[in-house]
Amino acid sequence: MDILRQPSGAKTEPDEILLHTAARAVDRCRELAAITDVAGETTRTFLSPAMRVAMVRVQSLMEAAGCSVTIDAAGNLRGLYAGMSDDAPRLLIGSHLDTVPNAGAFDGVLGVMIGLALVEMLQGQKLRCAVELVAFSEEEGVRFRVPFVGSRALVGRVDDELLATVDADGVSVGEAIRGFGLDPGRMVEARFNRAARGYLEFHIEQGPVLESEDLSLGLVDTIAGQTRGEIVFMGTANHAGTTPMRLRRDAVAAMAEWIVEVEREARGKDGLVATVGRVVAVPGVGNVIAGEARASLDVRHANDTIRRSAVDALISKAEEIADGRGLGMAWSSSMEQRAVAMDASLTHMVENAASAAEVAVLRMMSGAGHDAMVVAERLPTAMIFLRSPGGISHHPDELVYEGDVAKALAVGMEFLKMFDQAKDTHA
Ligand SMILES: [Zn+2]
Repeated sequence: MDILRQPSGAKTEPDEILLHTAARAVDRCRELAAITDVAGETTRTFLSPAMRVAMVRVQSLMEAAGCSVTIDAAGNLRGLYAGMSDDAPRLLIGSHLDTVPNAGAFDGVLGVMIGLALVEMLQGQKLRCAVELVAFSEEEGVRFRVPFVGSRALVGRVDDELLATVDADGVSVGEAIRGFGLDPGRMVEARFNRAARGYLEFHIEQGPVLESEDLSLGLVDTIAGQTRGEIVFMGTANHAGTTPMRLRRDAVAAMAEWIVEVEREARGKDGLVATVGRVVAVPGVGNVIAGEARASLDVRHANDTIRRSAVDALISKAEEIADGRGLGMAWSSSMEQRAVAMDASLTHMVENAASAAEVAVLRMMSGAGHDAMVVAERLPTAMIFLRSPGGISHHPDELVYEGDVAKALAVGMEFLKMFDQAKDTHA
């Protein structure tokens, strides 16, 4: 598959060196995409055999760029490009190396390759600050159904409960770490160094917003909060032929009415997204009125108050619908993640870097969770999105434009200079 050249609309054309470096970063993503646990697709999960091969490859690239590389107890690859002094303040740049099943080539990996390219562009020249490249071992939550294992280790949030979580084969996180030749007892050493002053993540947008605005880059100011849960309507299962319409307690009909309300609620509020992605009818037989209907609910917004009030409104609506039909209703929440703001001053620095590089950036929300969301709890964090052609991600057709990568590199380079000169960095 060919990488498309960026379409028109760019303010300035990145120079040839940037384009060449961008093309190399894209090629490396494609090369890494061929390192997989499942032949014929790209699937690389936490501490899998393919992950080991990918780590060896990325480690050699980091070392060639002048980094000293370690692997922490969570399997994160950490490449330190030293500053002028041993205790130089550090900027962390990273993203994840694991993938969803049958993934594209750029989700996560591109952010690691852009960080690496920035260090390579220094050509051995030392900055006052150090740059630590972080290739997280686990973000997608595929193997253990718990996401962010890598970034949680970086912020000191890997606890015994997480270590005891088991995969489909009954192997715990702790056992997987030991099996990989690492020591879960040394997890505390995975915490970011006290010299760390900030974290920057480049990531594909995985959505259609930048493309719709004809822009290459986005600057994330907030990662949306999420509520996930399940609604159950309880009616009475009965014969589809012999039960008159007025005597039915049809759980699926109630659920259908409610799903339309979910869509109406989200369409009525700016920035709100609400999804019913899974529906189950019980007993689920064509000639039986469903006695029970279950529906998942996923609600996201940058503002936690708006999100919570939307969820409350949808639960009330479900109650109303159930009451009106003589049905029972129950709601259970499985996830409450508050919205996470990126650091205002680092984000502002990215904005200034973009102006210096003469690249337009769009301030935007991220509807998806990222390592940046976890790291932001403990370290000033900024996040840059690259346009996703067609808005496609978590799919083999995932793409990125080389021209957009070149612009990301230009902004990243300006950011590095500004971060290196900033007084706060050296406080
Ligand atoms: Zn990702």
